[in-house]
Amino acid sequence: MGSRTRFAPSPTGFMHIGNLRTAIFEYLVAKHDGGEFILRIEDTDQNRKVEGAIDFIYNTLNLCDMKIDEGPNNEGEYGPYIQSERLDLYKKYAEELVEKGVAYYCFCTEETLSLMREIADKKHKPFMYDGRCSHLSKEEIEEKLKNGEKYVIRQKMPKEGVSVVHDVVYGDVRVENSVLEDQILLKSDGYPTYNFANVIDDHLMHVTHVIRGNEYLSQTPKYNLLYEAFGWDAPTYIHVPMVLGSDGNKLSKRNGDASFMDLYNEGYLPSAIVNYLVLLGWSPKENKEVFTIDELIKDFDTSRISKSPATYDIKKLQWFNHKYINNLSDEDYLKFVRPFLRLDVSDKTPEWVDRLLLIYKDHLSYGKEINDLVGIFFNDEINISKENAEFLQSDENIPLVIKTYKEELESLSDWTVENIAEVINKVKEKTGVKGKLLYMPIRIKISGIEHGPELPDEIYLIGKEKVLKRLS
Ligand code: GLU
Repeated sequence: MGSRTRFAPSPTGFMHIGNLRTAIFEYLVAKHDGGEFILRIEDTDQNRKVEGAIDFIYNTLNLCDMKIDEGPNNEGEYGPYIQSERLDLYKKYAEELVEKGVAYYCFCTEETLSLMREIADKKHKPFMYDGRCSHLSKEEIEEKLKNGEKYVIRQKMPKEGVSVVHDVVYGDVRVENSVLEDQILLKSDGYPTYNFANVIDDHLMHVTHVIRGNEYLSQTPKYNLLYEAFGWDAPTYIHVPMVLGSDGNKLSKRNGDASFMDLYNEGYLPSAIVNYLVLLGWSPKENKEVFTIDELIKDFDTSRISKSPATYDIKKLQWFNHKYINNLSDEDYLKFVRPFLRLDVSDKTPEWVDRLLLIYKDHLSYGKEINDLVGIFFNDEINISKENAEFLQSDENIPLVIKTYKEELESLSDWTVENIAEVINKVKEKTGVKGKLLYMPIRIKISGIEHGPELPDEIYLIGKEKVLKRLS
């Protein structure tokens, strides 16, 4: 049997790039040995639920070329794949634990708990539930249940000894049992906590490898105690390092850090995003950075996941995106970039627009950037800086060069890039001027700036009328 992994997001309608990075790792582990990649929606916190979030997740993973083998929209054998539709199961298993004596009903009210918290605060100690309800007698419990008192079900933790959890990335993690709180498994509204539901679901969905953020590592001994109590095998744990922003803080929606959709809408290609994200916390054996998804499936190896946090660097992502854009066929590139052009092209021909876009194919870092790059072809006025104006005065040949360009271009009947290239040669022959003195004066006169695309393209795109006017 191949590995089975799951991506288990909360349906918030937002795909944080740290979450997506973890999903990519999960996908690669499953596909590396021909296994299944499962989507499970963890909506036990109903307040955070957003309409349409499931489609949003499917859409994101589809764009990234990661197919979900089982999930809410394509149920497999172990559904439902949405936690709020599995409440009966959690209840049944929680009650089973009560019967086994490893969990108990807790009737403590919110007031009692607040008081306990206050006392802990005063003693400057972290609050930890003291387990008082675990001492209730059978009769007391029955009485309270009969009276309809609200309850939660808590896991009874061992008070002595040490728990050891093995993690592929972090090795053996040891935790003193005395610091483990009698955590809530089932809340009074009948919903499970994450801490309970993840164990039940991972077991019932036959998940073999649990890959998740390392913030869950210290909780994992509690999960193992649950697996033990049920007599189930625990999965292989792969806790992955955090992704930090360039300010060293954890990436978060609250800080306005990028989500997948923000990047996609700015014109980052999903394949480039995936390639960049996989390197946040993982490094390949060979010295290589650019991978197709198939190559990643083949090469991904959990032994090369790092323990240290990774830093999200938009510049590096732009480097990848630039490479991926540049590798597109011209046709695919045009399809990709056209929608990002926001400048008014109503007076231009489609050929003109495509030529313009194509000459920026190997300059572009992301789709929207096209608007910043092509400004010189849309502005009516050009600004010539002081230095450039001085340059135009700096050589006695320059007026002749400009005059010759003007005459030659004026007499050009067919305004094509090829003919314009010939004009440049003619000007060179006629004036005997070459190099910088041949190209710079016309560039500066027609665009105001000394850099730009190939000169014949630039002259062609600015257009005959404007070029002649600016050369006058
Ligand atoms: N719902 C959890 C989260 O979004 C999933 C953690 C896990 O993968 O187990 O952080």
